[in-house]
Amino acid sequence: MSDQPNANRRKFLRQASAAVAAIPVVSMAGISAAQANEKAEDGHAHEYVKNAADAAGHDDYAEGSKCKKCAFWGGDDAEWGQCYHADFQGVEVNANGWCSEFVEG
Ligand code: SF4
Repeated sequence: MSDQPNANRRKFLRQASAAVAAIPVVSMAGISAAQANEKAEDGHAHEYVKNAADAAGHDDYAEGSKCKKCAFWGGDDAEWGQCYHADFQGVEVNANGWCSEFVEG
């Protein structure tokens, strides 16, 4: 099976989220970098949890899904990284986290 459809979907999601995010980023120019890199706490949005194991039993959770495998993940191999979903702008999420907006990447 080819990885091309997933790569295209990931690229599309990142570009779309970046376009949406550009507006609040401009208006947040006065916020310090430290604030923009806060780590998301459990419950930040879409029932986010820092540890995907804590999502076990959630109706939308599939075994093995986590931020690092999500199309919105932008942290490469880091423990904490950017999520390109509009509701996670200004915070970092954990590579082993999860939320109900997970999209297989
Ligand atoms: S959208 Fe994906 S990367 Fe972002 S918090 Fe949810 S599961 Fe993690």
